[in-house]
Amino acid sequence: MRFEDLRLTEPLLRAVRTAGYRTPTPIQFQAIPHVLAGRDVLGCAQTGTGKTAAFAVPILQRLSDGAPRGTAPAGRIRALILCPTRELAQQIHDSFRTYGQYTGVRQTVVYGGVNQNSQARALRAGVDVLVATPGRLLDLMGQRLVSLAGVEILVLDEADRMLDMGFLPDIRRILAQVPAQRQTLLFAATMPDAIRKLANDILHQPVSVQVARVSAPAETVAHWVYHVEQPEKPTLLTRLLARTPRARALVFTRTKHGADKLTRHLLRAGVRAAALHGNKSQGARTRALAEFRSAQTPVLVATDIAARGLDVDDIAQVFNYDLTPDPETYVHRIGRTGRAGASGTAVSFCSAQERANLRGIERLLRAALQTVAVPRGDSQQRRGMSA
Ligand code: AMP
Repeated sequence: MRFEDLRLTEPLLRAVRTAGYRTPTPIQFQAIPHVLAGRDVLGCAQTGTGKTAAFAVPILQRLSDGAPRGTAPAGRIRALILCPTRELAQQIHDSFRTYGQYTGVRQTVVYGGVNQNSQARALRAGVDVLVATPGRLLDLMGQRLVSLAGVEILVLDEADRMLDMGFLPDIRRILAQVPAQRQTLLFAATMPDAIRKLANDILHQPVSVQVARVSAPAETVAHWVYHVEQPEKPTLLTRLLARTPRARALVFTRTKHGADKLTRHLLRAGVRAAALHGNKSQGARTRALAEFRSAQTPVLVATDIAARGLDVDDIAQVFNYDLTPDPETYVHRIGRTGRAGASGTAVSFCSAQERANLRGIERLLRAALQTVAVPRGDSQQRRGMSA
């Protein structure tokens, strides 16, 4: 499945290419066609699944389809995105800017805790897409700085969290001002009864899309953990890799920058390694994968998103170089080893700051990872892998 297969127009395709995305994530290829078709959607997906683009990209396309640039009267908002926190609001707004950069759709974000003047100014200048937290939006509505009478598309993102935070009355007040004739998308990571009830009330014959819960990890995988501080991680990894020079290993880092930095360290230590992440060109990526498959470059350092869809069997070891705060991501990561009954090892590096992440993972697995003592740094173990 490619973005090109999703009937996206050129300005949107160009934006996802610019963002470095190669293939749609599962929530994206499930949701985008329905949103484009104007259907209501009930989406069950967590952050990190690519759900923002799953609604932002098709919304931008719908708005830019029938809307010549700059014709909306000032204050006429066509798409409203409600979310629980200002951090999330800012992130969603940034995503809309990224994906909408070639569309001419205008957008802004409003949230509480900051002076509202610049937000009011942006609204007066006219916006098509407004991302908002409920409290600040109600304030601005009360001052008649915002009218929702022109809203065509409404999104409730992280709706379960908004309910947990007590926003339901605010949401109801906002809903009362949005035209009944509209498209509504509701996303939540969990589907408690309160969410189902809200969905029943506000969605019209919705399509349900969800990213399947990950299944339990293979039984043949051994889970080890080294308690090691961040600065010692590169050396420890180099040492462990040197024990099995020919075996393929997949190493997960949290960030692209971290992947690059670690790869440089490994290369300097003589380990044949390559980085795989969203900033790499298609050529570099294809090459890295081919060389990893043939075990010419036996070590691949990847971010979670980049490793998605990576289909390589018999990876002997998966290293959680950074311990993810999301236990399901851990299960995804180590799903790369121990496939088809082969035995595999999942090795985690846990710094003092990552202890809480470890506990989360152990809770999901319902088992403790096996603690292994950090090997002493004698020079004999400092062999590189290229020798
Ligand atoms: P979200 O779940 O919307 O918070 O997205 C998580 C991260 O995935 C963000 O950093 C996005 O930039 C990134 N992302 C979203 N869609 C894709 C894709 N199709 N390919 C690669 N990265 C993506």
